[in-house]
Amino acid sequence: MGNPSVKDRIEQLRHSVPLVTEQAGARIKVRSAVVLLVAVCLSMIVIVIWEAWSSRQYHLHDKEVAMSNLAQTLASQAQATIKQADTLLFTLVERLESDGFDPAGLPHLERLLSAQRSELSQLHGLFVYDETGRWIANSNGAALTDANNADREYFIFHRNHPDRGPHIGPSIKSRSSGEWIMTVSRRINHADGSFAGVALASIYLNHFLSLYDSIDMGRNGVINLIADDATIIVRRPFNEADIGTSLANSPLFKQLLPSGSSGTAAFKSMVDGVVRVVGFRRVEGYPLVVFTALDKEEILIGWREESLLSAGIVTLLLGFVGVLGYRLINLMMQQNRIQNQLLDAQDKLLEVNRGLELLALEDALTGLSNRRQFDLFIHSEMGRARRSLSGLALLMIDVDHFKLFNDHYGHVAGDECLRNISAIITDNIKRPGDLAARYGGEEFAAVLPGTDYVGAFLVAEKIRRAVLQAGIPHREGAEGMVTVSIGVAAYDPASQAQPNDLVGAADKALYVAKASGRNMSVIAN
Ligand code: GH3
Ligand code: MG
Ligand code: MG
Repeated sequence: MGNPSVKDRIEQLRHSVPLVTEQAGARIKVRSAVVLLVAVCLSMIVIVIWEAWSSRQYHLHDKEVAMSNLAQTLASQAQATIKQADTLLFTLVERLESDGFDPAGLPHLERLLSAQRSELSQLHGLFVYDETGRWIANSNGAALTDANNADREYFIFHRNHPDRGPHIGPSIKSRSSGEWIMTVSRRINHADGSFAGVALASIYLNHFLSLYDSIDMGRNGVINLIADDATIIVRRPFNEADIGTSLANSPLFKQLLPSGSSGTAAFKSMVDGVVRVVGFRRVEGYPLVVFTALDKEEILIGWREESLLSAGIVTLLLGFVGVLGYRLINLMMQQNRIQNQLLDAQDKLLEVNRGLELLALEDALTGLSNRRQFDLFIHSEMGRARRSLSGLALLMIDVDHFKLFNDHYGHVAGDECLRNISAIITDNIKRPGDLAARYGGEEFAAVLPGTDYVGAFLVAEKIRRAVLQAGIPHREGAEGMVTVSIGVAAYDPASQAQPNDLVGAADKALYVAKASGRNMSVIAN
């Protein structure tokens, strides 16, 4: 019962707002924003770490290449320096072996040595010793007296080794001048191949050191010229105590040199414990190795400052993005809360509205549909009947002598009587499509879709009898009971009749019923 089109409209309105879906959508948006914010921050952190790591690798690699190049350059320089001195030794040995140590020729030899020495600035001196270590000749004009060098390492080496190649001994302090020198020597043989003495060229260590000191190696950089037996020949920074130190146990001699004559690496120094990035190279033709090294910490100072700066900038940026994101997400959540509140309010409003709609369509006294709903309903049902060519009947039900009932029993009893009659009408129209309404005052209407005259008359009669049988006492009524008169009208879908025409027809039939004595049902003609 009731007006389906109005109810349908209300339901439609309720379902046109998918509250749950919208709330879930808003939650997903907030969650996505949080995930996005975290992803952006994490990516920034990862990028900075990656940048810093590759920049560190680049810095170290760059310096390794620089050390390798420097080692090569210094190895060439060492080779050229020694080669010049060694070439002199080679010709000197040739000459002495063919001419012998003739005392008469010694002054001439010494002049020659002196002249040759002055040609080469790196040369400290040229010396010749006989098989006992006695000074035979020297380039420095030093008195020969009874000076003897048989105790020197190079002398002992050549006396014990028949090799004819150049020998580079440990650096020593010159007996003639007190300066630090490097010695390059060759063995002199008698005609029978036996040991005849030693020819020696001494080279100022300063020649190497002044070059090494002119190269920017930072505060802790090292340049070493090392003999094949792992003893230090020259070391920058210079320290007398380091000269002759053995590096035999250092990674350079243990691992690097056995696997190649040049290369780069990073390891901890045996001399001072500092970790350095190193380059090394063997000097071609001589038993020497050049070793160049920069302090790893010093190399990384610039990198560290750079990385700290970019980390600082990124931290600031992260803070900025974080605060911005936090506020944005907060704003979104606030918006969601407000939206939810609005949706709740809308929901409640719809509920209230629905109640109001129902109230607006209901009669307060009897709970039946009111006149407004009756008008809407009969209008839409007549339209439907016209379209589907189905029948439609209307009953107009009026309480007989109700004015007198009120007068005698009072208005409260009158209201009670109206409620009873409306319940009886409702009980007797059972089809779901039927509608009972209070048309006005003590007059009721029943709309019966899909019903013809006959069916409607039967319903009318059922209602009339039921009211009579309810036995509501009425002094002026037929048989002393409350009765009703009913006008029955049916709608012909083929006709052009309007709702008013149908109501008019039923009213007329009702008038006939009243005029014919009341307590009866009359069909409109
Ligand atoms: P008839 O048999 O010709 O219909 O006579 P009647 O007295 O019923 O007709 P009339 O139209 O003269 O009187 C209707 C009365 O119904 C008038 C009024 O006092 C009473 N009435 C109308 N509405 C209500 C109501 O809501 N409550 C009560 N108690 N009485 C009502
Ligand atoms: Mg009446
Ligand atoms: Mg009336």
